[in-house]
Amino acid sequence: MDNLSNIGTVKELCRKYGFVFSKKLGQNFLINPSVCPRIAEYGNAKPGFGVIEIGAGFGVLTVELAKRADRVVVIEIDDKLLPVLSETLKGYDNIKVIHADVLDVDLPSLIQEEFSGLEVAVCANLPYYITSPILMHLLESRLPVRSITVMVQKEAAQRLCAQMGTRQCGSVTAAVRYYSEPSLLFHVSRGSFLPAPNVDSSVIRLDIRDRAPAKVQDERFLFQVVRAAFSQRRKTLPNPLSGALGLKKEQVSAAMQSCGLMPSMRAEELTLLQFIALSNALYEVRHG
Ligand code: SAM
Repeated sequence: MDNLSNIGTVKELCRKYGFVFSKKLGQNFLINPSVCPRIAEYGNAKPGFGVIEIGAGFGVLTVELAKRADRVVVIEIDDKLLPVLSETLKGYDNIKVIHADVLDVDLPSLIQEEFSGLEVAVCANLPYYITSPILMHLLESRLPVRSITVMVQKEAAQRLCAQMGTRQCGSVTAAVRYYSEPSLLFHVSRGSFLPAPNVDSSVIRLDIRDRAPAKVQDERFLFQVVRAAFSQRRKTLPNPLSGALGLKKEQVSAAMQSCGLMPSMRAEELTLLQFIALSNALYEVRHG
């Protein structure tokens, strides 16, 4: 079906299938016809690519992806949408719908089974209630994907794409920067959705890095340090880090000084490379 961004079509499908939007599942469907083609274009939906989509809704983005990419696998949690999708996606032989919670899906295996010989990209209008868990699931699985292009809440987009060393950044910013190079692509007003949410949105793209930006002794430890640092972002780093890592404040201060950092610094003042240097130094203190 082609006119899925038409509000009349969406309302007619709701009536026909007795479908009621679930706030809990973050169901705000796109009805602005210019948005999905742009997500697909920016999101590497093109020949030679397979695309994983998260959250089909009525399939408005799915069909735009399927028109451009070789194959689309869309993961949708809500079984009430399955009969609707059987109708709206009819005629596309390059789409597969998987009924599951994306957080439970073994994505590396899915990619191997479904996208042999293709490059892979992820595209989605994400359910906002689990934006960060989904992005972390995707990034930490180290998927062999070229890019992750997603619509998120505008404030989340600003945090995800923030520069390290600025007020807006948080632990998720560090993770995003570690695994990818993020860019904020365009804004989407709340009126572009049915039902309209209370917030505006933005589309961002994370271009996945081939390798880490610097040598890291222990990745899990790096993120333990980052999370601890941002858990008390107003405090100078020896306070949260000593508590979380079971070290003395003086040990943390000495490790900071050994990498050219002042012990009076706070989490939001460090670049990603400085976090990596600090976590390597702290790792040596603990294990050296
Ligand atoms: N792609 C459609 C669009 O743009 O109109 C729907 C987007 S809507 C914001 C989010 C979709 O994600 C809904 O269809 C919802 O049911 C689905 N969803 C919510 N949580 C999910 C999860 N954990 N795993 C998979 N899909 C989920």
